[in-house]
Amino acid sequence: MDEKMKNEVHVKVKAKFVNKFKSGYPLISKDTIVNPNVLTDEGMFIRLVDEQNRFIAKGYYGKQNKGLGWVLSQKENEQINQLFFENKLKKAFAKREHYYNNPETTAFRVFNGEGDGIGGITIEYFDGYYLIHWYSKGIYHFREQIISSLKNITKFKAIYQKKRFDTKGMYIEEDDFVSGERGQFPIIVKENGMNFAVYLNESAMVGVFLDQRDVRRTIRDKYAKGKTVLNTFSYTGAFSVAAALGGATKTTSVDLANRSKSKTIEQFRINKIDDEAQQIIVEDVFNYFKYAVRKQLKFDMVILDPPSFARSKKYVFSAEKDYKNLLKEAISITENDGIIIASTNCSSFGMGKFKGFIESAFKETGENYKILEEFSLPDDFRTIKEFPEGNYLKVVFIKKC
Ligand code: SAH
Repeated sequence: MDEKMKNEVHVKVKAKFVNKFKSGYPLISKDTIVNPNVLTDEGMFIRLVDEQNRFIAKGYYGKQNKGLGWVLSQKENEQINQLFFENKLKKAFAKREHYYNNPETTAFRVFNGEGDGIGGITIEYFDGYYLIHWYSKGIYHFREQIISSLKNITKFKAIYQKKRFDTKGMYIEEDDFVSGERGQFPIIVKENGMNFAVYLNESAMVGVFLDQRDVRRTIRDKYAKGKTVLNTFSYTGAFSVAAALGGATKTTSVDLANRSKSKTIEQFRINKIDDEAQQIIVEDVFNYFKYAVRKQLKFDMVILDPPSFARSKKYVFSAEKDYKNLLKEAISITENDGIIIASTNCSSFGMGKFKGFIESAFKETGENYKILEEFSLPDDFRTIKEFPEGNYLKVVFIKKC
């Protein structure tokens, strides 16, 4: 037996899931297989077979919150080697050519996991710098082949990485640098003419979430002019920047993380927005809502972009359980004819259910509404129809009327 075969285990798919995998479903999860116990070492190859041991697909073992691994190929004879990875990357890069050719936007995703044929890894481009996110020890096992592939197909200033799997509590910043010439951070990237400061050498969150690009542009170009804007869960204030550049009369950004204040000031300054004319508040959003109600504050636009799950000193927020109530709080401080932008990146429910939360929230507050726009992931965050849950982003522009 050669090395590769030794590393391959036969994983039996439960009868009722066989067709699902045959039609291209990429995620190998515990409930779809008979013998998860054969999976012992992350990075080992999986041969998915049916109850009669007939080939279905091949993939790898890598534990994520989503599942146990990902399908890589439905072709029995395809080798999973350097060339395989390089071809996947090449194809993905070719699909982003229009981004590389657009000087107004210098930050985008060039590889989006299963959407580009390899679950468990994403690669983003930030003005010459590449950032790889490894979502499991299993995919990290293939790092040499994947990094070599990246080096073979593109020029770069440097490559950075983030390990998004359990590293036994050891976060070593030094580990983030992979190759090239170390950057001076922040680097300033462009997005539809806006500037964003990006730090590839800090935490997994680098300063801007690229999947909201179309939402930021829409806020700036269609909705912000002359409006007062409350941006909750504001992080570095990217939505506030878009609103201010679009002519908002004033933005208020609220986030409980201390770092959000200086980071938001920085984003305003690199966009030549007078940060003194804007408000930045470090506070629990749920306290701020109470304060706003007490002071009878109202806003023309309220932006909601909470994490899927968050625990603060006083509150636990789960998008699935609590989004409706979050909306009710927002409705109570939104002007009539004002706009609520409701966003979630929670992958455990879809757009239908999200709109259900919106419906109930308005019903329970006795207010009327109209949906103006809807967004999901932009096209650089490629998804496949066989795995709709990969398109996790849901953003709805709602008019209170
Ligand atoms: N809307 C941001 C991204 C939000 S990330 C953007 O467009 O860039 C989620 C943010 O929510 C984090 O910055 C985190 O500090 C903040 N957060 C989590 N729980 C919070 C709470 N209870 N009150 C205020 N901010 C909170």
